[in-house]
Amino acid sequence: MAKKTAKTGAPRAILNPATEEVITECPDASAAEVDRVVTAAKRAFDDGRWSRKSPSERSAALLKLASLMEAEAPELAALESKNAGKPMKLAADGDIPFAIDNLRFFAGAARHLEGLASAEYVPGYTSIIRREPLGVAGLIAPWNYPLMMSVWKAAPALAAGNTVVLKPSELTPLTTIEFGRLALEAGIPECVVNVVTGAGETGKAITQHPDVALISFTGDTNTGRAIMGQSAPTVKRCQLELGGKAPFIVFADANLEAAAAGAAVAAFVNSGQDCTAATRLLVQESVLKRFTEGLLAETARVRVGDPSSRKTDMGPLISREQRNRVEGFIKRAKGARILAGGRRPEALPRGFFYEPTVVGGVAVDDDIMQNEVFGPVTCIAPFKDEADALAKANAVPFGLASSVWTSDVQRAFRMAAGIRAGCVWINDHLPLTSEMPHGGVKQSGFGKDLSAYALHEFTTVKHVMLETTGAARKGWHYTAIGDPA
Ligand code: NAD
Repeated sequence: MAKKTAKTGAPRAILNPATEEVITECPDASAAEVDRVVTAAKRAFDDGRWSRKSPSERSAALLKLASLMEAEAPELAALESKNAGKPMKLAADGDIPFAIDNLRFFAGAARHLEGLASAEYVPGYTSIIRREPLGVAGLIAPWNYPLMMSVWKAAPALAAGNTVVLKPSELTPLTTIEFGRLALEAGIPECVVNVVTGAGETGKAITQHPDVALISFTGDTNTGRAIMGQSAPTVKRCQLELGGKAPFIVFADANLEAAAAGAAVAAFVNSGQDCTAATRLLVQESVLKRFTEGLLAETARVRVGDPSSRKTDMGPLISREQRNRVEGFIKRAKGARILAGGRRPEALPRGFFYEPTVVGGVAVDDDIMQNEVFGPVTCIAPFKDEADALAKANAVPFGLASSVWTSDVQRAFRMAAGIRAGCVWINDHLPLTSEMPHGGVKQSGFGKDLSAYALHEFTTVKHVMLETTGAARKGWHYTAIGDPA
């Protein structure tokens, strides 16, 4: 918690995944502690110390928070790199600036809520829409982009006037704790931003608490399923950003050099621990060989090593368990051919490192093509024509991100319409921006992070209807349709 640090939960060692050394310890908050924090957050919502501030006041506080984060950006990037094993260039040039930009975007968006126009939809009555915060937002974040994911959720929730109980992953709580401290420094009132540390049981207590109005969760699809169940008894609104298995579709007319370079980055960025990672490279048969050669050359150039060096492209995986999981997928992929990697780097005996890995000879319904590996592993499979590409692209239970590589603009648009995913990139794969929504379909979840759509997740609309004539009611009508007399 930002202010009232949990005291009783068993301490949990927080590791540096590149060295396996303990950085510090953090307690797991118990259900009783979660209750205390939620109660404080509810009181902070109900007394209006934040929810009844004007949008411009909330906006100013969020802008101040963004500036404080900017002032501490080098320290935040270093801490994120250490705790998540994230290459410095990714933390310092990606995660932290994007989180700051996000806060600034939502600080602005807070002042520009959109909705239906007020009007006389029924003669003699004026209807208006109020867009209101929901109350205490329970925010549960994963370990792959720790601070960025926390901010993606906290920024729209706070902009809309909610108070938040924010739980980072038990593996990577450190930068989110700093976020809680900076929120207080920025003048956001006490108990508006509450950071609670702990693992699944702590998260469960948040999802089950009757005074938590909604849950915004990013993480594994199985956890998302559990959260829906846990939230059901109190009928909570859920926004779920879950797993992905993104297709990366390369047509013969694509710029193959750009596609190969793009595939290496999109597959191995953040050690492949990215929900949008290019994990299924679907390549038109006639260029399969050429594309594969290009990709293997790019893969050989990926510099794996110490995340604190700006020269490093790829750091370790987050944990021993995660590396075991990745190794399990490779072991089980019996008929597949390992074209690159497929093992731990010999030069890096400490830390949870794994080589960037390219797998060929896979069928669309193989385990490794169907399920999220969440490591530096990508698979290549051929397709015949556009219809085959589309069928293969859609042949997974996930639908988060995707990309199409082609020089035929009409085909690009046909594919963009046909792919079942929350995002389709054309001739690139990865870029996100605060102004555009991010979120999936199918078992990748529902609801949106980022953009004005995220504000909708954290608000509800209320219809207020005023009788404007002062006359007594004339009939038993209840709609504007038909004769009210
Ligand atoms: P995870 O589901 O294991 O954990 C995520 C968070 O949920 C953690 O804070 C964890 O403590 C908490 N949690 C675990 N069990 C819980 C429960 N029963 N109730 C409430 N909270 C619980 O996920 P992870 O391993 O941290 O992250 C990796 C996953 O996140 C991948 O599947 C990845 O695709 C997904 N992800 C999705 C997106 C997206 O935008 N769709 C973005 C990033 C990561």
